[in-house]
Parts: sequence; structure tokens; C-alpha cells
Amino acid sequence: MSSHFLLSAAARTLSVASVARMSEEEAREAFAAIRWSDNQGKPYCPKCGCASVYACPSRGIYKCKGCAAQFSPTSGTIFANRKLAVREYLLAIAIFCNGAKGISALQLSRDLSVQYRTAYVLAHKLRETMADQINGEKVAGDVEIDGAYFGGHVRPANWKQNRRDRRLRFNRSPKRRVVVIMRERQGRTLPFVFKAEDQAIPTIEAHVEPGSTIYADEAGSWNDLHSRYLTKRINHQEAYSDGEACTNQAESFFSRMRRAEIGTHHHFAGPYLASYADEFAWREDNRRISNGEQFLKVMGGAAKHPISRKWCGYWNRKPQAEAAE
Ligand SMILES: [Zn+2]
Repeated sequence: MSSHFLLSAAARTLSVASVARMSEEEAREAFAAIRWSDNQGKPYCPKCGCASVYACPSRGIYKCKGCAAQFSPTSGTIFANRKLAVREYLLAIAIFCNGAKGISALQLSRDLSVQYRTAYVLAHKLRETMADQINGEKVAGDVEIDGAYFGGHVRPANWKQNRRDRRLRFNRSPKRRVVVIMRERQGRTLPFVFKAEDQAIPTIEAHVEPGSTIYADEAGSWNDLHSRYLTKRINHQEAYSDGEACTNQAESFFSRMRRAEIGTHHHFAGPYLASYADEFAWREDNRRISNGEQFLKVMGGAAKHPISRKWCGYWNRKPQAEAAE
């Protein structure tokens, strides 16, 4: 009997313990090898590109012989201006990759023994790295499209006579957003966030190659797609699949994301909903590679990613009052 991939030994090639056992020097070497992979892992200056450098092994830094700039393996990457040891970042990546339904910042802060704020920004930097490996891509062939709403929970009033009908548009929270997913069968997953499903049409046209077949449910928002693509619809009130059309792959993405919302994060904050959607699209697309490969993919992405404009110095820029919320 063949067992499920995730139950096989091939799915487990990396343990958090093995990363925790690394010395700081080994961790720096591992990061440097992937960061400077285009120079056989040998350091070169991030400012002027000069390959002739002095090394200061005790401090883990280098000095450029050309321009005298000092740099470390993480300078100019998403982990630039770091306060923790490189090993802690690799540990964070291993913990983050192993969490099939995501890892909350609180849990990460306990696992690494760092402040909540540090863990929050670190997790978002990893999401940014994952998003980088998805953004700008296109899908083709058999593409399933579906939307699901997140955020903006309206709490029902205590007394029945004070309750409002939350199905009506004007009784909903303005924070509510829809994640629209474009998912190739046996292929990649592209998520986008909108205020309403029907705003997604131009983005779908920009990211789904002409000539593709689109599968969607009976929602009226998708009617305009018929003029651009061969579009097959499935009415979920009658069946989930009629042998011709189904959106089960798209639904499976939302199932994973919904479980992460309920079980791990409890709510996805409005402005960062897209970051979480990108994270779960990445997890969906990489679910059939070993956790060791996932780790290398995220570490490689982090090493090649420039300094994050959004997350580097986030708490310094954020007004204290807002941060205290
Ligand atoms: Zn230089």
C-alpha cells in the first residue's frame, strides 16, 4: 500500500533540532553559501561588487578591500540590520516551514524566546520572501477561480431585537475583503485581494493566459469571463462536480486558509490579508516537496531578497499609540 507523501520519510529531511544544533559559524556559512551561490559561496561586496575582501571570522563580518565597506552575510538581504544570531533566523525558517497551517507570531516568539514584535516582523519578512516566489507569475491551461471572504466580523448584538441581518451589504463591516484565487490544476496558485469579487475581472485577465479554460462556480461575478475564456460553471447548489466542471482545487486552498484563520491566527488583519494569502498559496504549491527543500527555498529567497521596505524598522516607524493596540 502506498502511503501519503506527508507520512513518508522523504517528506522529512530536516528537523528543527538539527538547525538548533548548528553553531553560529555553521549557520553563517550555510546562509553565505546560498547568498553568494553565484560566486561559489565566496563573499563579495554588496556595495561595489569587489570580490577581494578581508574576513573577520570572530565577528562574522567582512571588509571590502575596494571601498572599505563592512558587511555580513545578511547585509542587504531581508534580514539586514538584524539583532539576533543568524542561527535564530534559520531556526525561525525551519519552524515556519513545518507549520502546515501557519505559525502565529506569539508561538514563534515563545519558540525563539524573542519579543512578540520581533516575531511578528520576522514572520512577515518570511511571508514577503514567499510572496516573491509567486508574484508576477501567470497561470494557464485548466484554471479554477473562486473567492472567499475574510475579516470584518460583525458581532451579533446580545438581544435578538437589536440584531441586524449581517447578510445585507450595508450591515457588513467595511473591513471585509475577498481573496480571489486562480489555481492551475496540478500547478501554481495565485491569490489576490479585492473589496468585492466582481473587481477581480481585470486582474484575472492579466494573469490567466489567453486560451485557458476557466472553471468557476455559479456566482454572477464571473459572468464576464465567458467573453474572454472558455468558461465552465458548476452550480454548487446542485453538485460540487458534475464530471465536467468543478472548483475543488480552489476550494481546497480556501479550506487550508480558513483552517489557518480559525486555528492559528484567529483573524487575518485587513491590510495584511494579501500577505497571508500569498503564504498559503506558497504552502499549497510546495506541499509535495520535503521540508528540507522548503527550508532551502525560503532561506534562498531570504538571501536574495533586498531589504524589506515594509518590514525593516517597522516598529520604529509605527506610532507608539498604534503599536500599543
Ligand atoms: Zn566594496
